[in-house]
Amino acid sequence: MREIWQSWGRWTGVEPWLIEVALAALGRTARPREALAGRVTYNQLKVLEAFRAHQVDEGDLAPSSGYAYNDRGRQKLESLYAQVFGAEAALVRPQIVSGTHALAIALFGILRPGDELVLATGTPYDTLLGMIGLRPGEPGALTELGVKPAVVPLLPGGSPDLEALVGAITPRTRMVFIQRSRGYALRPSIPVDGIAEIVAAVKRANPEAVCLVDNCYGELVEEREPAQVGADLIAGSLIKNPGGGLASTGGYLAGRAELVNVASGRLTAPGIGGEVGPFPGSTKREFFQGLYQAPQAVGQALEGAVFASDFFGLLGFETDPQPPEPRTDLIQSVVLGSRERLIAFCQGLQSGSPVDSHVRPVPWPMPGYDHDVIMAAGAFTQGSSIELSSDGPLREPYVAYLQGGLNRDQVVAACLLAAQAMDRAGLLPEM
Ligand SMILES: *Cc1c(COP(=O)(O)O)cnc(C)c1O
Repeated sequence: MREIWQSWGRWTGVEPWLIEVALAALGRTARPREALAGRVTYNQLKVLEAFRAHQVDEGDLAPSSGYAYNDRGRQKLESLYAQVFGAEAALVRPQIVSGTHALAIALFGILRPGDELVLATGTPYDTLLGMIGLRPGEPGALTELGVKPAVVPLLPGGSPDLEALVGAITPRTRMVFIQRSRGYALRPSIPVDGIAEIVAAVKRANPEAVCLVDNCYGELVEEREPAQVGADLIAGSLIKNPGGGLASTGGYLAGRAELVNVASGRLTAPGIGGEVGPFPGSTKREFFQGLYQAPQAVGQALEGAVFASDFFGLLGFETDPQPPEPRTDLIQSVVLGSRERLIAFCQGLQSGSPVDSHVRPVPWPMPGYDHDVIMAAGAFTQGSSIELSSDGPLREPYVAYLQGGLNRDQVVAACLLAAQAMDRAGLLPEM
């Protein structure tokens, strides 16, 4: 290994001392990285079993057009998703453009004027703020339609405040929103066990309340999924975990059949729902094969994250989670502490990408976000974050959120290039 990485250092000009730090981090993280292998195997076998049970055949992979009534491959794909996620039904479509869109379908599909929406895990992911109406001024927000949101802040350590949550639930609470992953916040992700506790508390307070889980970045990280512990509906993006790096677009919802059905009327139209919806081009093959590959992609990304946590820790940065901590989402936070470092980090990381390695990312006012955001994303699919990517809002304490990586070798290489970019600019802490 040493010789391979040293010759890579000669190709790329990365300093030998940085390579030594990376080799040390690889050695130090061998155990926690191996520990991830069992979950990958479990999830791979679970996915394979769903394919076998559904007798997926070549015809199922073919494109469909127009209304695509009775698209057998689509029906199988959705039933297969339901099985993998432990749900009654699923809606899996290339017409869902992102995770935010999938969540919008769930929220707007189910909530009605006068309904209360309780956000159980604090302020939600940035792109949801305008949609819900927590950031005023967005035309068409849920609040404009008469939905009343209430945010229950997380406890200081970042865990959900179950007492305050139960206090916020009323007979008018139609939906409780639970965000599994940390998103762009310095807080722990919520394990499926923790989601189980939230759901149980909600159901005791109001059995009619629908528990919606923002499942982004959490899929196939643990052995169980939120619908298996009582969540009524989950939603996420196919250019994250479940697309396995092969899906070129798409999103999904899964959960109780009645809820998936109502929500699907928001994607198309009430009365039509999920009965129509074509899979043009190679999208259906991508979705099947992507889900099939997803456990491996998630495993590689997690190994990369564990490495990155130790590597940047050795370089003097605070990282979260720490290398041996259990992982319940893909995201690795590295607290960089300054704007200049965040920019250099993302530019260096981008230079380690297979696509657009020569492009220098700069901060920009991304739609849906409150602060300028810098994104390193040299991906085959634009914005895909199951492929290695790093983003961070330009705000204190200047955290790089690192996620994805279809192979851990690229994560190591790209982290080295990020460190090198900070070193060249004199931005690494004194060691
Ligand atoms: C990525 C993400 C979303 C949705 O983001 P899109 O970019 O719209 O796919 C929502 N919530 C969380 C926690 C996320 O990580």
